Amino acid sequence: MIPPHKTPVYLDYNATTPCDPEVVNEMLPYFSGNFGNAASLSSYHGFKAHQAVEKSRDRIAALLGAESSEIIFTSGATESNNLALRSVYSALSEQGNHIISSSIEHPAVLATLKDLEKQGVRVSLIPPLPNGSFDIEAMRALISPETILICVMYANNETGVINPIEEISAVARQHQILLMSDATQAIGKLPINLQKIPVDILTGSAHKIYGPKGVGLFYLRHRHGKKVIDIQPQITGGHGEQGMRGGTLNVTGIVGFGKAAELAAQELEQGLTTTARQRDRLENALLALGHIQVNGAGSQRLAHVSNLSFRHVDGGKLLKLLKNTLTISTGSACTSSSLSPSHVLTALGLSDELAQSTLRFSLGRDTTEEEIDFAIAEVRRVTKLIEDVSVDHPA
Ligand code: PMP
Repeated sequence: MIPPHKTPVYLDYNATTPCDPEVVNEMLPYFSGNFGNAASLSSYHGFKAHQAVEKSRDRIAALLGAESSEIIFTSGATESNNLALRSVYSALSEQGNHIISSSIEHPAVLATLKDLEKQGVRVSLIPPLPNGSFDIEAMRALISPETILICVMYANNETGVINPIEEISAVARQHQILLMSDATQAIGKLPINLQKIPVDILTGSAHKIYGPKGVGLFYLRHRHGKKVIDIQPQITGGHGEQGMRGGTLNVTGIVGFGKAAELAAQELEQGLTTTARQRDRLENALLALGHIQVNGAGSQRLAHVSNLSFRHVDGGKLLKLLKNTLTISTGSACTSSSLSPSHVLTALGLSDELAQSTLRFSLGRDTTEEEIDFAIAEVRRVTKLIEDVSVDHPA
């Protein structure tokens, strides 16, 4: 039984994760004791802060199989995606103006691409395959001499579908096109070894891996000791982060990110078997209720995510009734205070109604068996209340 003070039960770890207590402990001394400015290298305080930042850079590089000098700190994956896309265009606009991406990227990518279109970029957004995965053949067909970048997320935040980044990177290499991947949902959930997978630019965020909010990473590959492209800083002022990102470093946040990366590496080594088992138990129990489909079924998915559409219930009622007991995401995105169906689900071919009758469960390190039992019982109770077999949302 879940005591009432523990509700709503949190199953929305793709939205954000709590800071791990070990992360908080490691951060605390940097708020007021070791408060130095990491750029003030000649001072005692500054040097201490600098050392802490570099330790974090090493830990994050170790998690990703990268060199420490290839890691740049930002304010989050949104900033990193902006930095990547805008820099690639400004560095390579003489060579071409074509960017290939997918229609189910995060808004931080899609909105930036839209903005770049106004500056003359030709963007090709590839719709997903029916199983939610990236369509490599469509990508091959789109490659042209003007293509300067392929940008494909590592794993989708809504469905948890894992894209075939290794195969994509082989094609990108063959055509000598830069490859960028938003790995915000994959870091710490999948082993990523950038020594083996030739992604050129990778982005991520601390708050998805039990680190603090407001810290992100931008990975830029070095080849033969040189950056693969010159980066035009998007935040100017100062020489921070090898001249790629101005501003005083968020030392506490970076320290937290480093510890979170270390913990994530340990967790990956142990395997996320408990989470995978809990997700499967939840998913199978809910599927047994009937009239439910798994979005992304038939493809490789992150072990902690389950995206389910309820064909026989009204989405609005479902969400309203679950609001106080379960914290989960829906198949709707809040845009300017109106609810619009998720662009990911509609790209997968779901009708607006079915997209809005969709729940995303994302489990985490702290999820307990009792919470899974509770979630199953809650969804069962609520769907029974509102089930209406006369409603049959079109696929
Ligand atoms: N990309 C993906 C795939 C995400 O899931 C998110 C967070 N929802 C972001 C980018 C943005 O990350 P941040 O919150 O660090 O800006």
